[in-house]
Amino acid sequence: MKSLCRIRIRLDNLLHNLEFLRASGKPLMPVVKADAYGHGLPAVAAALSSQGVDHFCVGAVAEGVELRRSGIKGTVVALLGLSPLTRDLPVLPPTLSTLEEDARAALTHELTPLIHDWPTLERLADLTRDRAAKSVSVALKCDTGMARLGFLPEDMPQVLEKLACAPQLRPDLLVSHLVAADDPDQDSFTREQAACFRDAGRCLRRAFPDIRLSLGNSACLLAFPELAGDLARPGFALYGGNPFHGTRLDVLGLGLAPVMEAFAPILEVHPLRAGQSLGYGRGFVAPRDMTVAVAGIGYADGFRRVPGAQLSVKGMRAPVVGRVAMQMSCLDVTDIPAVRPGDMAYILGGEGKAIRAEEVAQWWGTIPYEVTCLLGRIER
Ligand SMILES: *Cc1c(COP(=O)(O)O)cnc(C)c1O
Repeated sequence: MKSLCRIRIRLDNLLHNLEFLRASGKPLMPVVKADAYGHGLPAVAAALSSQGVDHFCVGAVAEGVELRRSGIKGTVVALLGLSPLTRDLPVLPPTLSTLEEDARAALTHELTPLIHDWPTLERLADLTRDRAAKSVSVALKCDTGMARLGFLPEDMPQVLEKLACAPQLRPDLLVSHLVAADDPDQDSFTREQAACFRDAGRCLRRAFPDIRLSLGNSACLLAFPELAGDLARPGFALYGGNPFHGTRLDVLGLGLAPVMEAFAPILEVHPLRAGQSLGYGRGFVAPRDMTVAVAGIGYADGFRRVPGAQLSVKGMRAPVVGRVAMQMSCLDVTDIPAVRPGDMAYILGGEGKAIRAEEVAQWWGTIPYEVTCLLGRIER
């Protein structure tokens, strides 16, 4: 969609965050799913790869193919697994892939398919029967408490039996995901998950001594690097988000630098007399004589139509006043000197006290991950 907003991706900050996280001493398998949390998959992956990163996690298999087409080498795990679909479904949009197509794409592009359930394990075993022994690298997903995808720890002996009948499949990774590592009050649940995961890993290692374990997300890597496993999978922190924002562990993420900036030009600046209303529905009435700036961003750009937000103009905070419109929002710039049309209003970033995704998330009643994923759809 064409619009007046733009985002800027600070790859320098991405690389700063990479070094910050590498200081934990853990090898990393960065998560670049959902277009690198809105930051742009090819550019983010190329920047990380230039610094020696050679393991990546994407979501869908198609994202893994995109990564390979952009020239990325190394291990690529697709966290959503293989498609559950088959061609005999009555209505299947032609752009949605089937399990067979995903499996073929994974083999062609040497992606590491994630196996999280029995049907995928059985079908993938069948589809690769003609391959030489132990030639297909796969990752296994273990559910240690998220209750989303994955085999349960107690399923592991049966997983081993199935794998014994499919020697062409070589499990290189065992993956599980933490539920609440970003909540300092849920440490004991995090430790329980880690213990379950270690047990599952121990069981698999009897047959596959080289299998590597991957548990830690961003929060785990910052707070409990010792639980992260052989390969940590940070996402949010790489993009500069502090998983502990607003908690007593806030300090752990203060060294991270936000990677996404989003901004739009101010189109007009005008006075608003005390008592005059502004915008649709007369939702705002000026409590005093004010100066109002109209910025070229609205809900069509992903800027939420909720009260309480601020933008940053000339290094100062400008509250949004009145209702956010489709492509415009009004700002109170009464206390910001000499604002003119053409000045930039920052939704994320800005000079002075930059606006962080964590703050926007509070205004919007959501999590900062959603903020960058949404605003990431804005043109570069
Ligand atoms: C998204 C995701 C991650 C990364 O989590 P962050 O909180 O962004 O660090 C890791 N593992 C899995 C399975 C995920 O889906």
